[in-house]
Amino acid sequence: MKLCRFDDDRLGLVEAGDIVDVSSALDALPRHRWPVPLGDDLIVHLDRLRPMIADAAKNGIRRSVASVKLKSPIANPSKIIGAPINYKDHIEESKKDQGIAHGRVIRTIGDWGLFLKANSSLVGPSEGVALRFPDRRNDHEVELAVIVGKPGSNIARADARRHIAGYAIGLDMTVRGPELPSFRKSIDSYAVLGPWLVTAEEIADPNDLDFSIKVNGETKQASNTKHLDFDVFRLIEFASAFYTLLPGDIIMTGTPAGVGPVQPGDVMHAEIAGIGAMDVTVRAA
Ligand code: MN
Repeated sequence: MKLCRFDDDRLGLVEAGDIVDVSSALDALPRHRWPVPLGDDLIVHLDRLRPMIADAAKNGIRRSVASVKLKSPIANPSKIIGAPINYKDHIEESKKDQGIAHGRVIRTIGDWGLFLKANSSLVGPSEGVALRFPDRRNDHEVELAVIVGKPGSNIARADARRHIAGYAIGLDMTVRGPELPSFRKSIDSYAVLGPWLVTAEEIADPNDLDFSIKVNGETKQASNTKHLDFDVFRLIEFASAFYTLLPGDIIMTGTPAGVGPVQPGDVMHAEIAGIGAMDVTVRAA
């Protein structure tokens, strides 16, 4: 099942290249009073909603993908987790390029651990990326994004798969510089998630997916998740050793070699096998 959030926070089922409005299924979600529980309600209740979504699709209004504005399929993550230096070829390019390293000693993800991106940085592909500091180097990083389904802490690698709700394309946009990653990667619109959530059963092996990004039609990054240092299941184990993972949490799994700067007016085209593709426009903030 491919689920998107579009236009005025409508819920869409992606079917045969179209988007079917299944927003009526959202009526089954609970109405909250303060304090609102952490986590994304759509993901918390996804298993219960699936038959309602299928039912709503029978009479739902069909739209073409091109005619809607795609927002982040996850509206309310409790956190967005980032994985630094998680592809060997990106480690090598980071060691060679002081524009990336900025004096840091590049080691391994095991040494560095993970980082968090502010939830307020999250947008969907149609919202685009607004460069806050156009005079500095602003890089694209295309990544497989894993969406947590079942909550958990200290999740064993062997159990990790059961905690995944699905997958999406993530762009971990980055201002290069000497500041800590969480600061440089948390600017408004610097976390792009889209074009939709693909539920876990549609992806046979998340650790073997081709993915790429083009900028203005030119391929900049192209790799396969089989080259991850900490693969998807290890990342869940690693993250949950420190954080309780909650439904809707987003893990951006890391980026391969080929990171590079974007400018206002650029169009990024990102795709991952089995998920889909999205275009994201860059503008000045
Ligand atoms: Mn990254």
